[in-house]
Amino acid sequence: MDLVTRAEWHARAPRRELTALPSARGTKVHYVGSFVNPRLLEDCDRCVALVRSIQIQHQDNNDWTDIAYNLLTCPHGRIFVGRGARILSAANGPGLNQGHYAVCALLGDRGLVQPTAAMLRGLRDAVAYLQARGAGREVRGHRDGYATSCPGPVLYGWLRAGMPIGGRPDDTPSTPRPPSVPRWPGRYLEHRFGKPMQRGQDVIIWQKRLKQLRYTIAVDGIYGPTSAATTRVLQRAEGLAVDGVVGPKTWAAAW
Ligand SMILES: [Zn+2]
Ligand SMILES: [Zn+2]
Repeated sequence: MDLVTRAEWHARAPRRELTALPSARGTKVHYVGSFVNPRLLEDCDRCVALVRSIQIQHQDNNDWTDIAYNLLTCPHGRIFVGRGARILSAANGPGLNQGHYAVCALLGDRGLVQPTAAMLRGLRDAVAYLQARGAGREVRGHRDGYATSCPGPVLYGWLRAGMPIGGRPDDTPSTPRPPSVPRWPGRYLEHRFGKPMQRGQDVIIWQKRLKQLRYTIAVDGIYGPTSAATTRVLQRAEGLAVDGVVGPKTWAAAW
């Protein structure tokens, strides 16, 4: 999962304190509506700019505390942290935000109207991310319970079909496959300058996992400075102590 932090998309600070919502029945899916420039597909910097403009619009025009959504997903499959997990959204309509968190696809009703496979995967990842952080199993569209066309016919049809990707219509986020978590190998993986670098099968498993999570890393079986730096990025994203050392907590956080 390719998570774009608020710092990475240069989010403004919330205008007031956001309201916590520790758990909810599920998640509602949205789209941007209006015109979305198809040239978004060419360059993810355009996605970053669009997310920023949505935040500015929500704060300055709608007088909302922050961008309305908990997460947003772009055509490149990246997941932008909006309000983040366990926070009340402002996207679902009055009285409807307590029940569901909100995920928005960077898709329009004109221009870019067809989701890419990466976007669909990103939407599923975003829903799963929230499900791991307080969201219940229910996945609905904005139009469920509110008079709107959102999230548009294509995404709504996809939701109703169980969010299929490729030829796996039964593989829905409401029935996630439990990942098989390999056991922590029992030694702390760490890199210290001036000391010999650790090598081994455990390093390979760790590097493979980081690669699977879309971190940029070579699988060479040597825990060097790059591995440690990548581990620190993961630790920061997961809210762990950032020390570049793979102990049981960091290991578990990656699966
Ligand atoms: Zn909506
Ligand atoms: Zn993008």
